[in-house]
Amino acid sequence: MTELHLMEKIVSLAKRRGFVFPGSEIYGGLAGTFDYGPLGVVLKENVERLWLQMFRDDRDDMHGVDAAILMNPKIWEASGHVSGFSDPLVECGKCKKRFRADHLDGSRKCPECGGELGEVRQFNMMFKTHAGANEDTSAVVYLRPETAGGIFMNFKNVVDALHPKLPFGIAQIGKAFRNEIAPRDFIFRLRELSQMEVEYFVAPSGWEQAFEEWRKMMHLFAEAVGLPQGMVHELEVPTEDRAHYSKRTIDFEFDYPFGRKELWGLAYRTDFDLLAHANASGTELSYLDEETKEKFIPHVIEPSLGVDRTVLAILSSAYREDDMNGEVRTYLALAPRVAPVKAMVSPLLKNKPELVAKAREVRAELKRVHPAIAWDDNGNIGKRYRRQDEIGTPFCITIDFDTLGDPSTSSGQERPDLKDTVTLRHRDTGTQERLTIPEVAERIRVAIE
Ligand code: ATP
Repeated sequence: MTELHLMEKIVSLAKRRGFVFPGSEIYGGLAGTFDYGPLGVVLKENVERLWLQMFRDDRDDMHGVDAAILMNPKIWEASGHVSGFSDPLVECGKCKKRFRADHLDGSRKCPECGGELGEVRQFNMMFKTHAGANEDTSAVVYLRPETAGGIFMNFKNVVDALHPKLPFGIAQIGKAFRNEIAPRDFIFRLRELSQMEVEYFVAPSGWEQAFEEWRKMMHLFAEAVGLPQGMVHELEVPTEDRAHYSKRTIDFEFDYPFGRKELWGLAYRTDFDLLAHANASGTELSYLDEETKEKFIPHVIEPSLGVDRTVLAILSSAYREDDMNGEVRTYLALAPRVAPVKAMVSPLLKNKPELVAKAREVRAELKRVHPAIAWDDNGNIGKRYRRQDEIGTPFCITIDFDTLGDPSTSSGQERPDLKDTVTLRHRDTGTQERLTIPEVAERIRVAIE
């Protein structure tokens, strides 16, 4: 399976099984936009929930906000985005296609048609729109290009409301918008994306320690969502490539099917943002240390994680094909914690009411462990297993005559010892075992912990 071929298979599976659909599809789509379908939305929510748990809820020093996407445009002037949030753009004189100059390895030829490329110019990536009925310049607003702005706007509010002790942080999940010159690689480079961001405020001397702590945390999160350790790499970003606000940045890169690319970023933003917003707004954005009575503008460590790039990393590293009983089997080896469906319950035969009733009972029992327990009684058992394999369901549970322990309906031999036991099938190996219902519930509980 070539790498590009793999990408096609992932995109096709994502569409076929309801993970990710092209945006506005029946109108020919809209570049850089995708919609999450019924399974994708749950996978995405599982990622976000885990992040909220690890980056916010399990810690006493973290607080949440959900800021507005539309904000006063002065924010983006002060943060440097109006003047500096741009990518180098080149246009082909022949086919008129546009490219990011820094993605072309210095070539002056169009990668599509071989035509001559024009001059490089800076292209600002912020989407502009108008607030209110007047389409004049005074009403220009931007769709936020990163969620961080909304966090800085609420630094003072959180300090005034909660009086947190430094170091503390604010976490937020939300949409961000970037008018990417060349959106590509499925949900890797989008124009509408979701970010999970933390701004962690520290005393200036505390930045290195905090940077190391969040660096470890990001690796723990990669592990928690099931990304193989060997596929996540750190890149120390050299000064000339860092964002205008950053004094140190580590890119967390991932081995995607189309190459090693940025998955997440960890940046030391110094006091750049709070200082800039304090100066531009005339509002004091400092922190008073109650013990030393020292007043200063905190410095900031920012772990910034793209939700969509995380979902793509999960899908692309979980995609597997193997040979099962002479047939190619496709499955997603998802970590049970992020899998959209945790287990599927089915009666061996759907036209035997006693099997169906017992299977319904087992499903209700297992739903007490987790609500995402599916039901499938369509087609033969083999087909049901394949369907669940393709969406990454870790366990399948089958209720048969032995479960009922009724000699008149049992498969021939009387096996009273098997009464109230079921078959538990494991996705990755296809192996099956016979367990009691409480044992199955415990297996699921432990796997998704
Ligand atoms: P790139 O160099 O790939 O354009 P970036 O360095 O501009 O990315 P950041 O500004 O650091 O990205 O954004 C933080 C995170 O947001 C990224 O690490 C990534 O996970 C996510 N992200 C950024 N741009 C996009 C995009 N166009 N589509 C999807 N996710 C994105």
